[in-house]
Amino acid sequence: MKVDMDKLVSLCKRRGFIFQSSEIYGGLSACWDYGPLGVELKRNIKEMWWRDMVRERDDMVGLDSSVLMHRAVWSASGHEEGFSDPLMECKACHRRWRADDTKDGRCPDCGGELTEPRMFNLMFKTFFGPVEEDAAVIYLRPETAQGIFVNFANVVDTARKKLPFGIAQIGKAFRNEITTGNFIFRCREFEMMEIEFFVKPDTAGEWFSYWLEERQNWYIKLGINKENLRLHQHGEEELAHYARVCYDIDYLFPMGWSELEGIADRGDFDLAQHAKHSGKDLSYFDPDSGERFMPYVIEPSAGVDRAALAFLVDAYDEEPDKNEIRVLLRLHPDLAPVKVAVLPLSRNETLVPMAKDVYASVRKCFTAQYDDAQSIGRRYRRQDEIGTPLAVTIDFQSLEDSQVTIRERDSMKQIRVPVAELTRTLELKLSGEPLEVLPPGGKYWLGFEG
Ligand code: ATP
Repeated sequence: MKVDMDKLVSLCKRRGFIFQSSEIYGGLSACWDYGPLGVELKRNIKEMWWRDMVRERDDMVGLDSSVLMHRAVWSASGHEEGFSDPLMECKACHRRWRADDTKDGRCPDCGGELTEPRMFNLMFKTFFGPVEEDAAVIYLRPETAQGIFVNFANVVDTARKKLPFGIAQIGKAFRNEITTGNFIFRCREFEMMEIEFFVKPDTAGEWFSYWLEERQNWYIKLGINKENLRLHQHGEEELAHYARVCYDIDYLFPMGWSELEGIADRGDFDLAQHAKHSGKDLSYFDPDSGERFMPYVIEPSAGVDRAALAFLVDAYDEEPDKNEIRVLLRLHPDLAPVKVAVLPLSRNETLVPMAKDVYASVRKCFTAQYDDAQSIGRRYRRQDEIGTPLAVTIDFQSLEDSQVTIRERDSMKQIRVPVAELTRTLELKLSGEPLEVLPPGGKYWLGFEG
């Protein structure tokens, strides 16, 4: 369905996914705080990326480099000189715009005339140490990639990896963006998940195609509808100063097709620049061929916040339900902030001990939430709205037959299972097993019999 951004923003605020930064002071634009559910969603995205890109691969290692780096890094990388966007200011309302967000030299807000574009560096500057002088200027990193390049030799020396191999990193980045908006799509502080994959120069093309495919499949595996993804190749004028070839994986966001992740062939630009500026040898010795050369690098660079927005947009759904509308987030179970809700049918005191016992055993294995406020129907809706894939209900029958009901978010189907089999069943269901109720109209789930 076509998702209305305002509705999504309001759900995120109402249910505790995402809040405006410094809201009680009027807010700080393009900075966002992740609330109790948002932080779980974001952690899950990062966790799945780390699992799939690092832990389950033999050709990848991780890194966590510091946000603050030597100023020379940004001079060598070309960021001091070239990490800029063209800025135009409206002569009437004084709003500032990134030139590519404007048309015909007119202000998109009031139609006023715009100034000529001037280049504006997007790096946040600060001072290192107690003296605020030019020599003490350093930057908050605008990408995590440079931390990887300057550690290339350290990793080669210690991780015993042969080419091709990659170094992956998740961390905060900061960009003093000119035009912001569209919720968490463009923030001034955000998180990145970046891979620098080092290859022999003559294999760069193959590896580029491989990563293009691999990264699209990752989003699809985690629930993004294939139809909502497309590739966009950068033309000459769009290419960053370091890139030989670059594709964006675009997603169909509510405001239209926009970049979700960038995949660039950076050649040997970065290693060569750092070798030149630092005077250190950053070439690679290939023990198989006996050759020494500068590796090329393929960079899949993704934003955690943009991925979170794409997953939320793709999962958002509304469907008629009697006289109401059921709002739900069809999030992939691996991403859902809460996996299982434990719901006693009512607050009746005879139900509570069993419900608490069930909750205690479920929460050992899954992120779970116990909810006994209001009617069971309303509690199901609340869980649907935050994307909880499964709810376990304890009713009066449960006290007699030691069975509970599992209700699925998407189909609203229910099955009944013995408490003794509950965690195993939940685990199977969360991993996508299609389990059915066996005897027609029966109360028993016989999945584990026979
Ligand atoms: P854009 O053209 O949208 O400014 P970019 O091409 O400058 O993006 P890259 O430098 O390729 O972006 O960054 C890699 C990824 O980091 C992007 O695909 C996006 O997911 C994320 N990203 C970049 N800038 C921001 C931002 N200001 N807020 C949130 N995520 C961002």
